[in-house]
Parts: sequence; structure tokens; C-alpha cells
Amino acid sequence: MSTLEIRDLHVSVETKEGPKQILRGVDLTIRQGETHAIMGPNGSGKSTLAYSIAGHPKYTITSGTVTLDGEDVLAMSVDERARAGMFLAMQYPVEVPGVSVANFLRTAKTAIDGKAPALRTWVKDVKVAMEQLRMDSAFAERSVNEGFSGGEKKRHEILQMELLNPKIAILDETDSGLDVDALRIVSEGVNRVKSTGEVGVLLITHYTRILRYIKPDFVHVFVDGRIAEEGGPELAERLEAEGYDRFLAPQA
Ligand code: ADP
Ligand code: MG
Ligand code: MG
Repeated sequence: MSTLEIRDLHVSVETKEGPKQILRGVDLTIRQGETHAIMGPNGSGKSTLAYSIAGHPKYTITSGTVTLDGEDVLAMSVDERARAGMFLAMQYPVEVPGVSVANFLRTAKTAIDGKAPALRTWVKDVKVAMEQLRMDSAFAERSVNEGFSGGEKKRHEILQMELLNPKIAILDETDSGLDVDALRIVSEGVNRVKSTGEVGVLLITHYTRILRYIKPDFVHVFVDGRIAEEGGPELAERLEAEGYDRFLAPQA
């Protein structure tokens, strides 16, 4: 079983005014088979955590470690992170003109597995995954992210995750901008991947609503660049009822 370990992670981002410290000592352990939710107010650094793990060049690790089964993730290239079994949806947020969804998925699968997938099973796997996500088959021929709606981007993200079989998947705001039907379909996709017991999921979200569909084992409240409180699913319910006020306002 694989384990992603984040230890005392400090990260700064380059701004026009110079480097700005965003993450201030994040500790988190995610094992294959577990689902963790990171919840927190806007601007608390949730996406910064995701981008830092993904290896986005804009974010500088000032101290701390990230390891996957003891291997230094921060020393890996973005491709190496993917080959090591990490799925970071935000790795490919850009448009890839001229590269179809079908070719993109096959190229990514080949790169990650170190060999091309067997054509017959692969074509069937893609077809089934797309049908389950209620994606039109014509979608496979579209250029990656070119003119994708918010909902299409999210479905494409989950499609990738389902086909690439990662050990650790990090999903940032997968629920944002989805209507209730799309949220349910996307959540079902995450739950299919979860049900294999072979993926550790880090679900980053501002809203509790997706957690009605995807049940986390652990909930971490993120405030001001670090984890302020941790608990089980009941913590998400409490946040749904109370919001983040008690973490932001000074305690009486
Ligand atoms: P969240 O995802 O929790 O809303 P972010 O990680 O996006 O939070 O942002 C945390 C803080 O870092 C915010 O104050 C944001 O303005 C700042 N920040 C993040 N990325 C950048 C960037 N590329 N340039 C400047 N400031 C940034
Ligand atoms: Mg934000
Ligand atoms: Mg964010």
C-alpha cells in the first residue's frame, strides 16, 4: 500500500511584490484506500497545496518534505510524479490544441504504464468510462480543454483519473461550477475509483455539498496555510451547519 507523506511543508508564491509565504507547516498523510477532504475558506492556501504537490513552477518549497513511499516527490519532474502513481488533475489545465481527448488519454496511459495499453481492452475501457460519466462519444475527438465548459473539464478530469489508475489522486474544487446532476455523475466516478480500494483521494473543496456524495474518512480544516483542525466525517457536517466563522473570528 502506498503512502503520501507531507511533513511541515512551507511554500511561498512569487508575486509582484516579491515572495509571499502561503503554506505555513502542513502535515498530512494519505494512504491508498483512504479519502481525505481538505476544506477551508477561500484564500487559505488549499490550491497552493495542490499545486505544490503537482510541481507547479510558480510555487517555491521553502521547507518541509513530500514523499511517496519514502521517495522524494519534490525532486521528481512533473512526469515522474505521474509515473510514480500520482494523479494531479491540475497538471494539465491548459488547452492542448490539435490533441484529441482520445490521443491525450492514450499517450498519458502509455507514459504512466511504460507501455501502450492493449488496444481492444483500452478502447472498451474508454467507452465504458465515458458512458458512465454521461459523456458523448464525440467528446473523445475534441481537442483537450479547447472550449470545454466548466462541467466538461471536471468530467474529463474524472475520466482521466478512472483510466489512469493512480495510487494517489488530488482533486481541487472538482465540485465547483457543477449543477446537481453533474455533481452526482462526477461523484459517482470518484466513488467507482474509491471502491477499488486502490487509490488514496485528497478532495479539496470549499463547500460541503460534494461530501454528501463522496464520504471522506478524514476531514482537515485548512486555515491560513495550515491544518487548523482534523476529524472524521462528522467534522464536515459541523462545517456545513456552522461554516468557517469559528476558525476565522477570534474565540470569545
Ligand atoms: P484557496 O485555494 O484556499 O482559495 P489559494 O491557494 O488559491 O487558496 O491562495 C492562497 C493565497 O495565496 C491567497 O491569498 C492568494 O491570493 C495567494 N496566491 C496563490 N497563488 C498565487 C499566485 N500565483 N500569485 C499571487 N498570489 C497567489
Ligand atoms: Mg480559491
Ligand atoms: Mg483553491
